[in-house]
Amino acid sequence: MPPAFAGGQTDFWSKPRRVWLQRRVAGRIEEVNEVYFADGQLLRDPYIRACRLLRDVRAGEAVQMSPVLLDILCGIQGVAIAHGIDRPLITNSGYRSPKTNSATEGAAKNSLHMQGRAWDGRMPDYPAKMLAQIAQYLQGGGVGLYVASNFCHVDDGRLRTWRGA
Ligand SMILES: [Zn+2]
Repeated sequence: MPPAFAGGQTDFWSKPRRVWLQRRVAGRIEEVNEVYFADGQLLRDPYIRACRLLRDVRAGEAVQMSPVLLDILCGIQGVAIAHGIDRPLITNSGYRSPKTNSATEGAAKNSLHMQGRAWDGRMPDYPAKMLAQIAQYLQGGGVGLYVASNFCHVDDGRLRTWRGA
């Protein structure tokens, strides 16, 4: 199921869906900024590129990320763009292998990161709190706000919110 999407953006899901992701890996910036879904289907190559960016960097493993998670990220950017803010989502973490997850401080034991269904990150010069507010408004799944570390967690699991450090 796609995010419920409160509000009046009824044509949102009929439009092509784009994500703009960035990630710093070993001092280099990786980027995916493209339409991954159009005409009712996932576009294979852009989807694979997004999955690759969202890989477990530590383990060097990529998996098929949840398309609903991508929709949540797309929705967050859509709302931000509607407010005049068109910026990349900076990725801290996407997929995590069980080994990486257990080595991640504060990670939940059954984290949805291990199923390719969760994302941690932020937008440049944008408070993580605002990002979390947008994500909550979208009602796509879980939303965690980490104020001190300045990032937001989103996943496509059940609706819930929490605050971390
Ligand atoms: Zn997370």
